[in-house]
Amino acid sequence: LDPDTFAGESRAVIDFLAGYYRDVDKYPVQSEAEPGSLRRLLPDTAPEHGEPVDGILEDVGQHILPGLTHFQSPNFFAYYPANASTAGFAGEMLCAGLNVAPFTWAASPLATELECVMLDWMCKLMCLPDRFLFSGGGGGGGGGVLHGSTCEAVICTLAAARDRALSKLTHEGILKLVVYASDQSHTTFQKGARIVGIPPSNFRIIPTSASSSYGLTAESVRHAVEADLASGLVPLYLCATVGTTGVGAVDPVGELGEVARRYGMWLHVDAAYAGSALICPEFQGYIHGAELADSVSMNPHKWFLTNMDCCCLWVASPAQLTSALSITSEYLTDVSCQETVDVVDYKDWQIALGRRFRAIKLWVVLRRYGAAGLRAHIRRHVEMAKWFEQAVKADERFEVVAPRRFSLVCFRLRPRPRYEGDHAVDALNRKLLNAVNASGRAFMVHTVVDNKFVIRLAIGATMTQMRHVRNAFHLIQEKATQILPP
Ligand code: PLP
Repeated sequence: LDPDTFAGESRAVIDFLAGYYRDVDKYPVQSEAEPGSLRRLLPDTAPEHGEPVDGILEDVGQHILPGLTHFQSPNFFAYYPANASTAGFAGEMLCAGLNVAPFTWAASPLATELECVMLDWMCKLMCLPDRFLFSGGGGGGGGGVLHGSTCEAVICTLAAARDRALSKLTHEGILKLVVYASDQSHTTFQKGARIVGIPPSNFRIIPTSASSSYGLTAESVRHAVEADLASGLVPLYLCATVGTTGVGAVDPVGELGEVARRYGMWLHVDAAYAGSALICPEFQGYIHGAELADSVSMNPHKWFLTNMDCCCLWVASPAQLTSALSITSEYLTDVSCQETVDVVDYKDWQIALGRRFRAIKLWVVLRRYGAAGLRAHIRRHVEMAKWFEQAVKADERFEVVAPRRFSLVCFRLRPRPRYEGDHAVDALNRKLLNAVNASGRAFMVHTVVDNKFVIRLAIGATMTQMRHVRNAFHLIQEKATQILPP
């Protein structure tokens, strides 16, 4: 690694990316690439000799960019956002450039310490209970860690909950453990439960309905748990979501916490998307009751101006997490300070050994924009979503399907006498979504609630401005006019 070459080639990459951001709204938002189209262009084997970076960037521009789905386009309204920002990129460069691996305290002490401080900062910004703070932060002996994704974080909490429960059962007890989630919870819980050995038949998907705005009710959980207890099963883990993926629903954290406490279940609060909004006081009511949770997670890489990847996980009892995940190898023990206590070895808080220095990225983002800048970022998108929601409501061809909580609006063409029947309405909405996406001028995805096909407009891309949301609405109206039966 020659520093001068490094500087020159890195500058070339930055210039390339700056050009990309200048032009990103000119590409069709959703990729139009056919499966196999790139394989046909690339050689069968890796090059024997190195090539100059200029040629590589030229190929990226010519062959890769046109086939991407452009998450950074201001017209990207699909899934949830994956924010990039100038500070997020600077932080990512520092992470990649320093390239340390803070898996034990000794492996990179201040990288670990920065991570602990960042998790405390985020905990305080989101007004999470003090029990999730490291003791050094004036908190209650909890703590946090940065993972790459919510999926990884959830697997770790499931493993901790499983081992906590198994310490009171025989090993075969694993066959009795039950995990509860709603029909709106992310599928990561089902996958995670399978990975940690919970029998698939012991994963309960509790239905939600419009009457609870698609939130999980304490009553329905109690009902499911009582039925399992009567069958000799053991309630293990309950997932509460603040901002579900499909419709942005919010589960009543406090009420679910009381149920979890009563039956000895681990309560995890998944705030992957909406956790970012919790830095604004007007949204903090949604997390009330989190003092009854065992763990909470959120993804700064969604809506917090932090480039991929970054997931904050807090646990009230780090010892429960580390006793499930800790493993030692002789080469990882520190000969100089074997007696050191009270240091964090993050290898014991995650699945992998190796890990990235994500804390430096979050530090740069938090310092560069400040809490006030980040709140303004969130509120800007929420205002746009409010405008879109009103615009949809004002056009009598459409209906809003679930209450808007944050910056996600779920809507559809409403049933009309001329095209009665669920299938006909669903088919029209599907056709509408396809027409919008095929235009290349915006990209959205759908969900299904109450057996209805629903279009989701998730606002939150960093470069999205009001005019992009207005254009998206006019595009939807234009396509609706084209496809609706006369
Ligand atoms: N939970 C919720 C509520 C989500 O919306 C998502 C992704 O959109 C996830 C979990 C999965 O997050 P990750 O991709 O970080 O695993």
